[in-house]
Amino acid sequence: MVSKVVFGRGSFTQLGEILAPERLNESAPFIFLVDDVFEHNASLIAKIPLLYKDQIIFISSEEEPKTTQVDKLVEDIVLNSSVLPSGIIGIGGGTLLDLAKAVALMLTNDGSSHEYQGWDLIKNKGIYHVGVPTISGTGAEVSRTTILTGPTMKLGINSDFTPFDQVILDPELTEGVSKEQWFYTGMDCYIHCIESLTGEYINSFSKTYGETALSLCKEVFLETLIQEESQDKLMMASWHGGMSIAYSQVGVAHAMSYGLSFLLGTKHGIGNCIVFDHLEEFYPEGVELFKKMKAKHNISLPQGICANLTDKQFDIMIDVSLSLEPLWENAIGKDWKTKITRSRLKDLYSKM
Ligand code: NAD
Ligand code: ZN
Repeated sequence: MVSKVVFGRGSFTQLGEILAPERLNESAPFIFLVDDVFEHNASLIAKIPLLYKDQIIFISSEEEPKTTQVDKLVEDIVLNSSVLPSGIIGIGGGTLLDLAKAVALMLTNDGSSHEYQGWDLIKNKGIYHVGVPTISGTGAEVSRTTILTGPTMKLGINSDFTPFDQVILDPELTEGVSKEQWFYTGMDCYIHCIESLTGEYINSFSKTYGETALSLCKEVFLETLIQEESQDKLMMASWHGGMSIAYSQVGVAHAMSYGLSFLLGTKHGIGNCIVFDHLEEFYPEGVELFKKMKAKHNISLPQGICANLTDKQFDIMIDVSLSLEPLWENAIGKDWKTKITRSRLKDLYSKM
């Protein structure tokens, strides 16, 4: 679990006092990985408390994090400084949060980040790392994974060392997110709740968080709230949704959207929406409510993204999807392999 968290509108201004006691010495910098959407946002940049050799690295979130990107960032940081940094601070959405987690881990673990994709492969504690989400939904701020696309798969580095040491939840930072992106990333949270609550791995711990997140999602996406309340509630929904899956698992939408993402580069939030829209047979009530939310916010999802794919391309997506065994086991049960066939997946992908 994340060891420390602050919540509140404007709490981002506390970053300086939060970091001060964690600085190792004057030559060990804090490295701020910041979504480049903020590069010209003077008021946010002014609040980043740079001292000594601290550095801001702006990163585009146009593509999801890759193992090669993590390795390059780590190499640059090591080459740039004679000592390990005091900490890594990720400021942005799931993309930047995952990059910050992965870089913090790979600064203390040898080799390439793709060698650690999987469960509990990390050997050493990473360096101090802080997450500051600027869009709500993924739960990356609270989860024990950092999802990376590697040479052969899209899979997280899941470990007890992955969670942030500190998170700052400042809903004001989500101002400026476009309506579509707000919906896609927010639906990631909604889908986490449905997949967790209906899965085989569900337990009282996960259920408590999942139910809270689900009821917050219903308020945010089906009722009419004032903007501040909506931002606050979605940020808390994201946190609770992430907590719910941390102790259970996601399901069919995630397993299939990883295939889309690996082959076509479809981003997580929108990819989950595209898949979930076709999953009535697995999640009848969840999908019905999803369609209501989609209609209320006038969202039209891309259609026919798999229309011109070759058999070989379908096979790649199906391979990626089927490799995510815990997700299928959670969604369908221990005998999932008898129910989830390649042709069933191909039929589903063909509809998207
Ligand atoms: P994102 O980080 O990719 O950002 C989406 C878009 O929103 C980008 O264009 C970004 O620039 C923009 N944006 C972010 N904050 C903004 C702001 N305040 N104002 C204006 N624009 C803003 O989106 P995401 O959906 O948060 O993250 C997706 C990533 O998260 C994927 O890589 C996915 O694999 C990962 N993920 C991780 C976990 C986990 O547990 N680690 C869980 C789910 C998803
Ligand atoms: Zn997700």
